[in-house]
Amino acid sequence: MTTAVIPHARTRPTTVDYRSLTLAAQDLFDLAQRHADTTIDAGDYNAFMQVAAHAAGLDIAPDREITRCACPTCHCALIFPTDLPGLRTVETTEYNLPRLQCPACADEHPAPHED
Ligand SMILES: [Zn+2]
Ligand SMILES: [Zn+2]
Repeated sequence: MTTAVIPHARTRPTTVDYRSLTLAAQDLFDLAQRHADTTIDAGDYNAFMQVAAHAAGLDIAPDREITRCACPTCHCALIFPTDLPGLRTVETTEYNLPRLQCPACADEHPAPHED
């Protein structure tokens, strides 16, 4: 009799509710997002994204982005990576951070696209 050894996959969640974070983590997330939004340095941008992801307790690759649902309809506070399937662009801005709706919001009450 042998026992198969199943590799233990990491099962970190890919999204988290902002309101489930501690106040300190919320502050850090907001700070990192604000700085990422206004920096003109791509390296800084990626670094702030890592800080934001860490504050939210999520893992993202070094060149990936994380943001909070920008739904104009409800008070959704989902934090998600911007390459999650099913996202919808709420508005395009001159800032760095994309304004996106999470998949549930995009499904239930999609924001009108601005052209
Ligand atoms: Zn949402
Ligand atoms: Zn919504």
